Amino acid sequence: MLDCAAVRNDPCRSVSCLGPRTLLWAAFFLLPACRSSAPSQRVGPPPSSPSSASTAPAVRVPFVRSDIPRIDVHTHVLLGAASRAARLFDRQGIVQAINLSGPPSAVGLDDFLADSEIAYGRIAPFTNLDWSLCESAGYGERMTADLERARALGARGLKIPKILGLGAKGPGGKLLAVDDPGLDAVFEKAGELGMPVAIHSGDPQAFWLAPNAQNERLEELQAHPSWSFYAPHQRGEVPSWNALFEAFVRRVARHPKTLFIGVHFGNAPEDPDLVAQLLDTYPNLVIDTAARLPAIGRRDSNHSPERMRAFFLKYQDRVLFGTDTAVGRTPDALMFGSGGREPPTEADGDRFFEATWRYFETTDTDIPSPTPIQGRWTISGVGLPREVLEKIYYKNAVRLLGVSLPKTPLPKPEPKVYPGNLQDL
Ligand SMILES: [Zn+2]
Repeated sequence: MLDCAAVRNDPCRSVSCLGPRTLLWAAFFLLPACRSSAPSQRVGPPPSSPSSASTAPAVRVPFVRSDIPRIDVHTHVLLGAASRAARLFDRQGIVQAINLSGPPSAVGLDDFLADSEIAYGRIAPFTNLDWSLCESAGYGERMTADLERARALGARGLKIPKILGLGAKGPGGKLLAVDDPGLDAVFEKAGELGMPVAIHSGDPQAFWLAPNAQNERLEELQAHPSWSFYAPHQRGEVPSWNALFEAFVRRVARHPKTLFIGVHFGNAPEDPDLVAQLLDTYPNLVIDTAARLPAIGRRDSNHSPERMRAFFLKYQDRVLFGTDTAVGRTPDALMFGSGGREPPTEADGDRFFEATWRYFETTDTDIPSPTPIQGRWTISGVGLPREVLEKIYYKNAVRLLGVSLPKTPLPKPEPKVYPGNLQDL
């Protein structure tokens, strides 16, 4: 079953595992130059000099997202929250989502599917594996059987979280590798069943570095000390980033008939050239963009906007739009890409999505980071043409994941009717 202890160590974790409120959260969102809450506006030409009568004064043009519908292939929606999530997404132009937090068939997938129906089918679940099955021999067969049942119930695909390689234990308590041969049958079966495998291996490379002032993810690691793999790796408890990535590549190579979605920009947002190499080598690999716009939108030698734009143009059929938004039932059960010690508000979500759309749709160079806790720098947009945006926003998902755009708008919520007076009771 889905293990809260396991996902607690995962930025893609369940929002039910979010921590207590602290002042740091307020400081994080309110103080640092209000970067995450900057006005959502595009900047026009520079101000004219007063003497220049022919030059129009600067005009701040509000950003308006394109009218292209979006399918978010990387969300986490808890049980009972599908309707809330569907409305939250719909407000942002996201008309369909994939929920990567669907459980195994044996532990409640049918409840998630029923919840999805209540949300007009707009939150389609993938299934996960029950990692506790790995404690004894024959786990591959048991997981394969569960996968078949999940497919029969209606799961669209399979999610492999980073616990594989970093936490899941095989018989005898040994860490299971991402390319553990005992799991081969599961990945083969996913291909046979036409179930794409969204696979998260490793994590940001900075999580393997000492969590000190030089670490660009220090703020995130301070909020979530358990996300750091520096000490566990020093103790030999977890593999290096490179070892995990190499095992991920071997897994993709071993199952050419299985479609893999390398989440978080192919698990290597720090190195788009490496991701490009993989895409060139393995036609069964596509990637999503979830929670990595701060990494790929930064201006450094690996990620100039020109290079990233060329990447998206070249691989326009291999990139799926994803955000890593998490939604639970209670008001504070939200996460947009990552989070601090405190949950965000829906207004924070508005800023997150606007920065996201500006990244894809404009060439603005001053876009506030959608998730500033992942590194306090602004990002530069790639300004993709409409036909490429259409592929990344939804056409690739329709083609590869068996989802479609809804045919009708989301119905208005039923108005709550309260008795007006005692006689109505
Ligand atoms: Zn995730």
